[in-house]
Amino acid sequence: LEDERLETSEVQIFYQEDPEYQNLSQNSCLPSEESHTSWHSPFKPRNYQLELALPAKEGKNTIICAPTGCGKTFVSLLICEHHFNNFPQGQKGKVVFFANQIPVYEQQKSVFSKYFERLGYKVTGISGATTENIPVKQMVENNDIIILTPQILVNNLKNGTIPSLSIFTLMIFDECHNTSKQHPYNMIMFHYLDQKLGGSSGPLPQVIGLTASVGVGDAKNTEEAIDYICKLCASLDASVIATVKDNLEELEQVVHKPQKFFRKVESRTTDKFKCIMSQLMRAIENLAKSIYEDIESLSQIKNREFGTQKYEQWIVTIQKECSVFKMPDKDEESRICKALFLYTSHLRKYNDALIINEHARMKDALDYLKHFFSNVRAAGFNEIEQDLTRRFEEKLQELESISRDPSNENPKLEDLCFVLQEEYHFNQETKTILFVKTRALVDALKKWIEENSNLSFLKPGILTGHGKTNQNIRMTLPAQKCILDSFRASGDNNILIATSVADEGIDIAQCNLVILYEYVGNVIKMIQTRGRGRAKGSKCFLLTSNNDVIEKEKINICKEKMMNDSILNLQKWDEAVFKEKILYIQNQEKLLRDSQEKAKPIPDKENKKLLCRKCKTLACFTADIRVVEESHYTVLGGAFKECFVTKPHPRPKTYMNFEKRAKIFCARQDCCHDWGIFVKYKTFEIPVIKIESFVVEDVATGIQMLYPKWKNFHFEKIPFDAAEMSK
Ligand SMILES: [Zn+2]
Repeated sequence: LEDERLETSEVQIFYQEDPEYQNLSQNSCLPSEESHTSWHSPFKPRNYQLELALPAKEGKNTIICAPTGCGKTFVSLLICEHHFNNFPQGQKGKVVFFANQIPVYEQQKSVFSKYFERLGYKVTGISGATTENIPVKQMVENNDIIILTPQILVNNLKNGTIPSLSIFTLMIFDECHNTSKQHPYNMIMFHYLDQKLGGSSGPLPQVIGLTASVGVGDAKNTEEAIDYICKLCASLDASVIATVKDNLEELEQVVHKPQKFFRKVESRTTDKFKCIMSQLMRAIENLAKSIYEDIESLSQIKNREFGTQKYEQWIVTIQKECSVFKMPDKDEESRICKALFLYTSHLRKYNDALIINEHARMKDALDYLKHFFSNVRAAGFNEIEQDLTRRFEEKLQELESISRDPSNENPKLEDLCFVLQEEYHFNQETKTILFVKTRALVDALKKWIEENSNLSFLKPGILTGHGKTNQNIRMTLPAQKCILDSFRASGDNNILIATSVADEGIDIAQCNLVILYEYVGNVIKMIQTRGRGRAKGSKCFLLTSNNDVIEKEKINICKEKMMNDSILNLQKWDEAVFKEKILYIQNQEKLLRDSQEKAKPIPDKENKKLLCRKCKTLACFTADIRVVEESHYTVLGGAFKECFVTKPHPRPKTYMNFEKRAKIFCARQDCCHDWGIFVKYKTFEIPVIKIESFVVEDVATGIQMLYPKWKNFHFEKIPFDAAEMSK
């Protein structure tokens, strides 16, 4: 969610498209999943839930690892209730529950409120959406259970509003496998571990982590997997991993493992569409070469092929390299850079179209390109663009007739059609989730289903991320909820086509057919995706033309086994020995952290130019840049105002003190490169720029550099000053 990202102290949050793996909800057991249980009334725990809660009830820091859908939320309620009851009279506990995503946060807040308010405990929640002007300290002090999105606590620990974690007696981390690297969970645990290892006084809270899978990282054998899991335990200061062992039979009654099937499908034997597209792409590559002969030297990527991920990477590196090359003649440099930018952008779209053609119908790929070219026409439409459009249009008729020829149908789709027909014939009430790799494929497959008379029994719906990808506008949260409710209630849809957004925790208990269409993820993803098909007799199909995909999925199954073996192994260790190992890792990691902190880069005080990354026009100097609230970068002075133009923002939004109003673009008419946004900040109207839209040139040496993020660019960062603005 964007408002969450705002707090991560990087200006990029405004522009960064939410990756598709952003989940609607990461929690594995939302209350409506267990609609047969009422959270109001006393509820009888299952034996395996009691088993999972036991080590935590004994006061041990525990990672609870149990399958999606087994009721981990209820386990955490049991632990929490026991925790409160365990305090002697006159003392009180304080529990904090962390949820990564707003929908999970909302769910947990309501579950905890319903369960604990009847027992006389005060429950509250603070999320990125509610944080403005809320006295966080008082809210924490006045309540017994606080549900938080983790960044809130990170911010308040950082600014000292909450001086230490000692205020809490129990911390619960939902989806705790995220506790690594720079994730807010880990930032919170850094505070905890600094207090633990730094010898400063004050009691530390008990720590509980919940997950369906701890993961094994890049481990190649059980030994490495054990190391990986130990590191996660060290990050959470856990001394126990709780899994179901004594009540496995009962667990298997509740959580059904879907049957897994692999289907190797064939691609088209001849592909005329690909032939024509490849010709066009070769021609554009030659045009690029005629502008800049050494284009091949710009990238290390060799043996690229059209229509592959590798080709996409090649394009991206070429675009990067082009934007920093220097020529004595500035106009010449600008001309060449702009031309290469256009050629590579078109190549990239062609490459996308080939990928769509590979997995869906030719018609869908062609529609994608036609849409792109209508956008090209509507924008600048300079000489190069006109030339490229003409080249496409010359082939358009031929492409149209090929795409209409039934002999060019995609055999993969025929296989998909076969699977769907079989399953719905067998059970008309089947509910399906179909996972695909990209947003463009979601649209393509939906259209295919709607236009296929053999699949008229299907009523497809779409479920995608909050993120805006390429040309598609993101799906809003209410829209997602609406689709899910309808799906659940046997309403409009009986098949959802989804990108990985639907991987974790979304609440689709009735889904009994999961189809992974040319789709792979890591082991954590796999376990959660499989958790989707939870109805009895559910099935999971992997359809792919690529042997590597099947191999990769088999490796994932191996990794899952490796993970389970490793956990079993660790559970046999003597607890004292395990604790010692954990302490050793924690000390090593702290040393590493502290030494990295000392090695903070010294800012380079030399003034530098920011040039438009596309046309190389001078935009501003670093000396004119001011930093707003530590993370947003604006430019002072009237000169800069002449350099950009604004267009109303398609999604105006307010975050904290910022009101997003417009997007800003390079003012050169033939460039129009996206530079950032225009916001209202308090009483000021200011541009906020993103560094990835610019090339940084050293004034003295002329050396040019690219920075992906502001935090990588170490210049003298001067804080924004309202007085200076008013001058
Ligand atoms: Zn420009």
